[in-house]
Amino acid sequence: MIVVDGHCDVLWRLWEDPERSFSDGTLQAGAERLAAGNVRAQVFALFVPPQVPRGQRLKAALAMVDRWHGEVVENAGFRPLLWRDDVPRVTGGDRPWALLALEGAEALEGELVHLRVLYHLGLRMVGLTWNEANEAADGCGEARGGGLTRFGRSLVEEINRLSLLLDVAHLSERGFWEAAEHYDGPLVASHANCRAVHDHPRNLTDDQLRAIAESGGVVGLTFVPAFLTGGEATRDDVRRHLEHAESVAGEDHVAFGSDFDGIDRVVAGLEHAACYAEWADYLLRYYPASSVEKWLAGNWLRVLAARLPARPMTNL
Ligand SMILES: [Zn+2]
Repeated sequence: MIVVDGHCDVLWRLWEDPERSFSDGTLQAGAERLAAGNVRAQVFALFVPPQVPRGQRLKAALAMVDRWHGEVVENAGFRPLLWRDDVPRVTGGDRPWALLALEGAEALEGELVHLRVLYHLGLRMVGLTWNEANEAADGCGEARGGGLTRFGRSLVEEINRLSLLLDVAHLSERGFWEAAEHYDGPLVASHANCRAVHDHPRNLTDDQLRAIAESGGVVGLTFVPAFLTGGEATRDDVRRHLEHAESVAGEDHVAFGSDFDGIDRVVAGLEHAACYAEWADYLLRYYPASSVEKWLAGNWLRVLAARLPARPMTNL
């Protein structure tokens, strides 16, 4: 079964260590392991860590975009997933696809022109925050729990105009609802789990899960032990979140966003992208193939086909 994964941080790992390459077999979401897991489309996040000072953040993100183009696209042969009419081609063909995402508006340094430049370079999904507050909104780790700033609202308007995906993972609860009000596409939480199963600020409430489903979007359940159980976690724990999300949001609104290469502690049996092959077999022990296919790929593909921008006529 093919896999579409909604979040990995491998570009951050490559940026941290310029000597490291995407073909490094020890990366959780390196080229080899993605191929072994039959990952046909992978979302690659630009994650600029909070230690990077203001004024240096766009530069860091651009360095990651450079690694994406140079290593993921040119060397490893991934096709950039840019346009709506690319989506039906993901299931066939022999080359995997790569979608570029921004994990937090920090890298925009408060300027919409930077979003447009990143869009021209291939950016197609935007998360407003990481855990802290930034120019756009408060993240889920910000105690005051604020929503969107004026810049954050104009950012959502620009995301609408460009027909990009808005990623609500990491947002404060108030930020989630304000973003949902201004955004006109299917909401995605690229990597998050269920608050009702494990109470963690990075997880979604049932109301949030329902709002995502009503918008036609997906929650990408994530393999992060801290969000699954708070301690050790197994595949059965991921399945508990899956069953809850499915019961609240419906089977068309559940998918996966591994967070590979963003995590040091891992789920037993889901340590890296190659484990997706066994994860598919594991899920097939419990659920019909038609459901498993949706969770592993079909639901992400539906959302991408509904929201990615139409190919401009000038590109034909
Ligand atoms: Zn994250």
